Amino acid sequence: MTSFKDLGISDTILKAISELGFDKPTPVQDKVIPLMLKEQTDLVSLAQTGTGKTAAFGIPLIHWAKPSKRHTQGLVLCPTRELCIQVAKDITAFSKYIPKLSILSVYGGTRIDQQMNTLRKGVQIVVATPGRLKDLLNRKALDLSHINYVVFDEADEMLQMGFQDDLTEILSHTPKEKNTLLFSATMPKEVSMIAKRYMTNPIELTIGTKNAGAENVRHEYYLVHPRNRYLALKRIVDNSPDIYSIVFCRTRRETNDVAGKLINDGYNADALHGDLSQAQRDQVMGKFRSRNLQILVATDVAARGLDVHDLSHVINYNLPDETAAYTHRSGRTGRAGRKGTAIVILAANEQYKLRQIEKKIQKKFIKCLIPTGEQICNKQLIHLIDDVKKVAVNEEQISPLYDDIAANLAHLDRDELIKRFLSLEFNRFLEYYKNSTDLNVIDKPQQRSRRDRNKRDTYRDAHPKQKFTTFSLNVGRRQGIMPQGLIGKINEIQDVGRIKIGRIEILRNSATLEVESRYTSQILGAFQQSEINGKTVAIEIARTPSVKRKYKGKRKGGFKRKIRH
Ligand code: AMP
Repeated sequence: MTSFKDLGISDTILKAISELGFDKPTPVQDKVIPLMLKEQTDLVSLAQTGTGKTAAFGIPLIHWAKPSKRHTQGLVLCPTRELCIQVAKDITAFSKYIPKLSILSVYGGTRIDQQMNTLRKGVQIVVATPGRLKDLLNRKALDLSHINYVVFDEADEMLQMGFQDDLTEILSHTPKEKNTLLFSATMPKEVSMIAKRYMTNPIELTIGTKNAGAENVRHEYYLVHPRNRYLALKRIVDNSPDIYSIVFCRTRRETNDVAGKLINDGYNADALHGDLSQAQRDQVMGKFRSRNLQILVATDVAARGLDVHDLSHVINYNLPDETAAYTHRSGRTGRAGRKGTAIVILAANEQYKLRQIEKKIQKKFIKCLIPTGEQICNKQLIHLIDDVKKVAVNEEQISPLYDDIAANLAHLDRDELIKRFLSLEFNRFLEYYKNSTDLNVIDKPQQRSRRDRNKRDTYRDAHPKQKFTTFSLNVGRRQGIMPQGLIGKINEIQDVGRIKIGRIEILRNSATLEVESRYTSQILGAFQQSEINGKTVAIEIARTPSVKRKYKGKRKGGFKRKIRH
């Protein structure tokens, strides 16, 4: 087995990493470090966070850096402030015994003048977010013309966050002759484009399978009616008493909603989303990292900077639009040889999405049943008994009180005492699940016939007296909108009966939707400001309801003329 010494790392760096407890290289380190120490090359590596990729690029970076020269020699670009801080911290730790090597992280949301002052003194390695770096370049506070190392860390995330143009501009400030290293958890075509455009014959390293979910992750799904999503989540959580999990939602609103309900229902949960201030974000993330928080409800974007990868469960309250995002989510569990579970709470009309993900991760989802109230109560009871067996008793503190307590409980025999202590903890589960129902949805065949799929269109025709309202939305085919997505969103509206949906028409950049008029405010509320595939939705009541239907069967061209006057 290779040791760090075999990789050609200098003694000064060896000493530092051994103090960090790094005994042997991880697979990505084993491949990247010797290569980068030996030859000057461009490199593309598929590796997720948690694989040790920071040391894989960080060690060669400090190996080649010359502290005697003041100019900036290495640049690492990261998508988020948190990752930026983490990477700079790690590289600083690896270079603990290299005198006079200066490493600085620069990111937005903090004072730029302090960063400019430090840069003026000479910094050999800069770790930056693209936005702030561009700002510093515009202010001529940083010279990248002598750079010989550029690292794109989490390239897929950076591109997803829309940094493409910033990256192009930043690279235009760097010399032609340099090593460019790109690390990415997934390899969508945008990342391959970057590699093609800015790199010269890069060596491609794949650690594990391309775009594969982590080895130790079990992928499960639970089929529920959309309006039971939250109840299903509670049961899943209740059935895993030691859960340490991120619950991924699609929008800020959903995040707030789910976290609020969990907190109200007595769970140790909090929300992480874009509306929080940096101080609030830091506080929530700190609590979660130190496990003072068991459940974090988050959007993909908000969870990006959170360097927590040892989750017991990753729960997809709603699936992400992009398959790559699922890989990122599920990659936060099943690390360091431990087993992890990625869970999808799924509506019946979303099953096609699972097939797409299965193809990508090359793994099958396991269909699981939402546990019944009785199963959950049993699980909780066993867990409680286990806790009683394991709990450490502080004799010193208890002994002064013990005689009084024992006298107080003297009238209860052993059985009675056990029952009462258990009930104390356990009654809330018994009470809650007393009359619980089955939340599982019977699996229907997935491929419906075209006639079936069009049934929604004919509902209105069959009920001409029912009042329908037509809504128009500013999203369409180009934003990846499909009828089942819109129907799914409507079905998620809670505390109302079944909402009747009429005709749905999806155009290139817009869509129209007919829904029973009595649910107008709920529909507006559900869609307005929600996000679909990264686009904020605007919805309004269409002025000319169901235009197509009105003139259906009339002469060609009549439609245009009619609405003009
Ligand atoms: P990264 O993928 O760079 O974010 O690293 C994930 C975690 O693994 C960090 O906490 C590192 O400190 C740790 N780590 C990286 N390489 C090793 C190694 N060779 N041995 C033990 N821990 C490591």
